Amino acid sequence: IKDIKVKILTAEDLDVSKFYRYPDSHKGDYGKVGIVAGSKYYPGAAVLCSNAALQSGCGLCYLITPQETLYFQSLRKPEIIVLPVESKEGVISFDGFVKFKEYFAKLDVLGFGCGLTRDSEVEKILIHILENFQIPIVIDADGLNVLASSQKAKNLLASYKSQKVLTPHYMEAARLLGVDVKDVAKNPIDAATKIAREFETICVLKGSRTIITDGDEVFINVFGNPGMAKGGSGDVLTGIILSMIAQGYSAFEAAKISVYLHSLSADILLEKKTMQTILPSDIIEGLDSAIRRLI
Ligand code: AMP
Ligand code: MG
Repeated sequence: IKDIKVKILTAEDLDVSKFYRYPDSHKGDYGKVGIVAGSKYYPGAAVLCSNAALQSGCGLCYLITPQETLYFQSLRKPEIIVLPVESKEGVISFDGFVKFKEYFAKLDVLGFGCGLTRDSEVEKILIHILENFQIPIVIDADGLNVLASSQKAKNLLASYKSQKVLTPHYMEAARLLGVDVKDVAKNPIDAATKIAREFETICVLKGSRTIITDGDEVFINVFGNPGMAKGGSGDVLTGIILSMIAQGYSAFEAAKISVYLHSLSADILLEKKTMQTILPSDIIEGLDSAIRRLI
C-alpha cells in the first residue's frame, strides 16, 4: 500500500489533556464503559478487561457477563457493576443479553469479545449490536473471531456509523483478512492498513511491535517486552482503550495512548520484577507508574 505515513509512537504523539480532572467534576464526566466478556471457560478475561478499564480512570464500568463466570470473580474490583446474563452451557445467551437493553443506552462505549468463546450466540449478539446500537465499540478476541466467520457481521461493521477499534493479534488479523498468518507477519503495516480501510476502523495490530492505524497514518509502538507474551495481556489493553474512549478521547487517540501506557507499565515493572514473573494483572496495577510518567 502506498501513501501511508509511518511513524514511531512517542510521548509527543499523545494528547494528555483529558488526564486533568477538574476539582468540581463527578463520575459522569469520566464516562461509562460497558464490557461484554467472559464465559465459563474464560472467566478471567472478563475480570482483567473490566479491572483494566476501571484502573484507567473511567467513571463507571459495567461488566455484562454470563452468570456462570461469577463464581470466579473474587479478583474483580468491587467498584465494577455486574450485569449477570443468562447463559447457554456456560456461554452468554442472546435472549439473556437483550434483557439488559435499557442499560446499553446510557453507555459511552462498548467493549465486545474478551473470553466469550466462538459461538453462534456470540455472533447473534454482535450482529444485534451492529444493527441496533450507536455507540463507539471496541472489538477484541472472540468478537473478532465471529466477525471473521460472518460476512453479514463484516458488512454491518463496515457500515456501522459510530467510532470503532479492532484489536487483532496476527492470527486474528489473518482470519479477518482470510490470509495466512505468515502474510500478516511479512507485512504487518499492510495488514493493519487493509483492516482499517476495509472496515473504516482504527486497527490495533498487536505484536511485539504493535501497529496502530486509521488507514492513512501508521504508528509503531516500540515499548513493551516479552514478559507481556502471556494470556490476558490483550484483555488488559482492551480495557484501557475502552476507558480512554469513555473519558473523551477519539478512537485513534485512545488506541495510541492505551498501547503506550500498557507497554510502558510492563517496562516499568521490570525495574522490580522479571519477564517471567510479570503478569497481565500486574500491568493493571503498574498503570499507576505509567500514567505518572506520561502526564
Ligand atoms: P493478546 O495476544 O490478545 O493477549 O495480546 C497480547 C498483548 O501483549 C498485546 O498488547 C501485545 O502487543 C503484547 N505483547 C505480546 N508479546 C509481546 C512482546 N514480545 N513484546 C511486546 N509486547 C508484547
Ligand atoms: Mg487476545
